Amino acid sequence: MNNRILALGLGLLLSAVASAANVTADRLVNAAKEPGQWMTYGGTYSEQRFSLLKKIDAGNVEQLGLKWFADYETNQNQHGSPLYVDGVIYVSTARNVVHAFNAKTGKQLWKYNPVIQGERLRYNLGLVNRGIAAWNGKIIMGTLDARLVAIDAKTGKEAWSVDTVPASLGLGEMTNKYSITMAPRVAKGKVFVGGSGGEFGVRGWIAAFDAETGKQVWRFWTVPGDPAKGFENPKLEQAAKTWSGEWWKSGGGGTVWDAAVYDPVTDLLYFGTGNATPWNARARDTKVIDNLYTASIVAVRPDTGEYVWHYQEVPGDSWDYDAVSPMMTADLTLGGEKKHVLLQPSKNGFFYVLDAAKGTLLSADPFTEVNWATGVDLKTGRPIEVPGSRYEAEPWNLAPGVQGGHSWHPNAFSPATGLVYIPAWEAYFTMAGPAANSPPPAAGGFSLGISMGTRVDADKLKPYARQGVRGRLKAWDPIARKVVWETEAFANGGPTSGVLATAGNLVFMGNGGGKALSAYDARSGAKLWGFDAKTAVFAAPISYELDGVQYVAASVGGAAQGGYFAPTHARMLVFGLGGKSVLPEPAPYTPPALNPPPSTASAEVIAHGGELYGRSCSVCHGVNGLQARTSFPNLTVTPLLYAQDAFDAVVLRGVRADKGMGSFAKDLKPEDAVAVREYLIARANALKAGTPAVALPAAPRRETGHAED
Ligand code: CA
Repeated sequence: MNNRILALGLGLLLSAVASAANVTADRLVNAAKEPGQWMTYGGTYSEQRFSLLKKIDAGNVEQLGLKWFADYETNQNQHGSPLYVDGVIYVSTARNVVHAFNAKTGKQLWKYNPVIQGERLRYNLGLVNRGIAAWNGKIIMGTLDARLVAIDAKTGKEAWSVDTVPASLGLGEMTNKYSITMAPRVAKGKVFVGGSGGEFGVRGWIAAFDAETGKQVWRFWTVPGDPAKGFENPKLEQAAKTWSGEWWKSGGGGTVWDAAVYDPVTDLLYFGTGNATPWNARARDTKVIDNLYTASIVAVRPDTGEYVWHYQEVPGDSWDYDAVSPMMTADLTLGGEKKHVLLQPSKNGFFYVLDAAKGTLLSADPFTEVNWATGVDLKTGRPIEVPGSRYEAEPWNLAPGVQGGHSWHPNAFSPATGLVYIPAWEAYFTMAGPAANSPPPAAGGFSLGISMGTRVDADKLKPYARQGVRGRLKAWDPIARKVVWETEAFANGGPTSGVLATAGNLVFMGNGGGKALSAYDARSGAKLWGFDAKTAVFAAPISYELDGVQYVAASVGGAAQGGYFAPTHARMLVFGLGGKSVLPEPAPYTPPALNPPPSTASAEVIAHGGELYGRSCSVCHGVNGLQARTSFPNLTVTPLLYAQDAFDAVVLRGVRADKGMGSFAKDLKPEDAVAVREYLIARANALKAGTPAVALPAAPRRETGHAED
């Protein structure tokens, strides 16, 4: 055997080994040396989402075309940013179905479905998953029923699965209110992931699990528990002094549902925490008080979970200003001094720059319209609040609204341009305290403490009356602390997708409302390329190189507004220069006819069914039995209304668990399922007759990719 053949044989052997996602600690720390790969959620540990690849550039991007596409099994919103490792694309889709594709051809190598369980499904905001981690031959994912699973990257078979909130934690009823939607991060042989559920009243945490076995290594509670039971550590004892009332009964909130960054430079793990529960500070506490460590960025030691520093963006939050928006580390020259910093464009509308080692606030400036604070005091780090914005006496038309000036959609930073690319929103929402005579929130429902859906006369609103969301791409200079360029606001109130920046001076972003994936000049913002994805785009694209060819991959799929369970054409799209593949035209879609059986049940049964429906079903299927704007089935037109046994097979026996509809047998008795069906029959008949629905409290933002914790 001559040396050339030997080398060829070795190369084949190595590529065979590598195809099992052999991601090691060394490869992750040195990810920038393998620019053709995309081995971790944010591209590298810095989470800058900056690809060093530049074969596709601002000069030739107009030749970018579709190389291949692959359809998904799921029909819901796709938020999952893919990974690319050694010839394979891995992507988590809605309701935790993971696909592995040959990155050159699009051939599906395997598909994994964890079959999520029903009792935890009623506490989530959209069956989404934002991403996965790769580690030592495994793909690791958090699930909607709060498990952490490891999948063999070669076979797609489950390697291990653990419940991240076991009964042994003693959380009682809270146990089943957690879900996981964030991408786990992996470093030093540990997987870091947090539980979602802040809107439902849980106690926030982030925990580390052994990446080989799933065994818990440590857990950091973000808020103190019941003082009578003692505190887990002295930091939580201190934090308890920043609460009043009986916060532990509703958990306190502070959920870690998106941003986490492991920083090899400081050897710290940073994460953001969500709102305190319930939203309204006055519904939570006897006085407005800081509520540590909610709405904060926290740094801990990755090996032990030991607290190192925190910075609270919003003391005593009353606006759902989770501090969980994606963060990144960068090296910036500030005032002539090189600084290693942590950057976050936050939901609350401010762009924060913190010293990464110490957590000191270096700057905080509004990157979008903000009317709850006039600025942030750099000495104290506290926001300077606008009087009235806490809606104590009168409603306040909040900007950014609870949708956020920017939410979970990943940002990018280009060291070449020095700009941070933010999928930014101008968002408005009317905040109003609960009406004097309003009943307390139903058990198991949203824990918000505000009056949702109250109609407030526009002329009574302060400081003005605006509603909705307008998305646009903004390029932010973190040194000059200003917007350098921005696109026009998207039509249709279109939200944005996540962002990818490349060394080819390009920024890729999708526009959820407009069904387009676009490329912009990273320096000027000029739109250079666009592609009709035939569906909404929410997830952040990635770029990779295979056999000397650069590709851009985007996971697309989202409900069109008003699309009553219309197919979303959710897919993986992969682009390269000269690509000529063509997406099929979506077939015309006719919604099922509204043709219910007659409503014969008693008013009591229907009312009882409505109450149960509101508690267990409305999160996915919509208020009043009608989901107008997402891709979940519209239950007023389902044939299941005609047969209780068929209805029970789905609701109580879980025959559609593999489609994301797990059994609700632990929540609903057989007579409850009868009442829910009778409620839906009554609702369908009322809709057919044109009877207006009774206003029930609605969740604000499950539609159009806003879904969060
Ligand atoms: Ca929240």
